[in-house]
Amino acid sequence: MFIDIVEYMKMNLVERQEHLRLEEPCIERGGFHNNFRGVLAEHLGTTFPSGMMIHLCHACNNGKCSNPHHMYWGTARENYIDRITAGVPTIGEHYMMRYSATERSEHARKNGLKNGGKNKGVPQTIETKRKNSESNKLAWTEDRRIRQSERMKGNSLRKNRKQDYSSVV
Ligand SMILES: [Zn+2]
Repeated sequence: MFIDIVEYMKMNLVERQEHLRLEEPCIERGGFHNNFRGVLAEHLGTTFPSGMMIHLCHACNNGKCSNPHHMYWGTARENYIDRITAGVPTIGEHYMMRYSATERSEHARKNGLKNGGKNKGVPQTIETKRKNSESNKLAWTEDRRIRQSERMKGNSLRKNRKQDYSSVV
């Protein structure tokens, strides 16, 4: 029998950290976060968390450690506070430390390009507005010309049919 992780999370932080034995050394046996979740779920007899609400937290603040006595199920907030107290930078802080202001604005510019082409957010000049409206007009006229010729074809088809009938009758 397993404890549903959602039920498990109703316990308070102290209860959820009761199994911790931080006097033990870290165990680094390789693997990734998902493997560690397996170890912890097995150790505590819980189901696996799904979504982003329940985190695997390292009380030892060693992200490579999979000692079940060093890990616990926490909320996103608890995980965040853990990392802050341990001085582990958040992704945002990490980014700020790694890149200078110029590099960051260059990234933002590149992302802007990726997300919407170089003209995204750039106000149109009168010249481009005029060009756009000209080409819209052209497209519309072309469209109408095609529609008209289609209609005429249809008319002549109907006419032909009528003629056929009349010749039969
Ligand atoms: Zn550890």
